[in-house]
Amino acid sequence: MSELKLCQGPKCHQHQTKDRLKGIKGSKTYQTRRRSGFYYGNNNFCSLNCQNDWFNDFGDRAINHFGRLTEPKHLTEKNAWQKTYDWNSTDNTVYIYRNGITKEERPLTREQYRDSNYTLNER
Ligand SMILES: [Zn+2]
Repeated sequence: MSELKLCQGPKCHQHQTKDRLKGIKGSKTYQTRRRSGFYYGNNNFCSLNCQNDWFNDFGDRAINHFGRLTEPKHLTEKNAWQKTYDWNSTDNTVYIYRNGITKEERPLTREQYRDSNYTLNER
């Protein structure tokens, strides 16, 4: 049996739906949803409502903790690289790094395409 996760929505149990009503007959309670996976908030929330509840309670603190932007970021040729692939290739997919400013293209291996840490962008 796969491990079940709990929705991280602080008010999940307050959204009164039939599937949240659990327990023995006579002493049922509305409970936080428990599933093998969730579709929202990077697999942490059962619904957009629960994700929004979390953000309303904790969002400001999370942003301040991880660093609030104090000035706009700028897209330049040094950070405009985006991974993509050739939509026309049939059997062998061709992966490409394309610069959104200069339009320069460079070849990518499949491993580099899938590696979320691999980048040509300067941070
Ligand atoms: Zn939820």
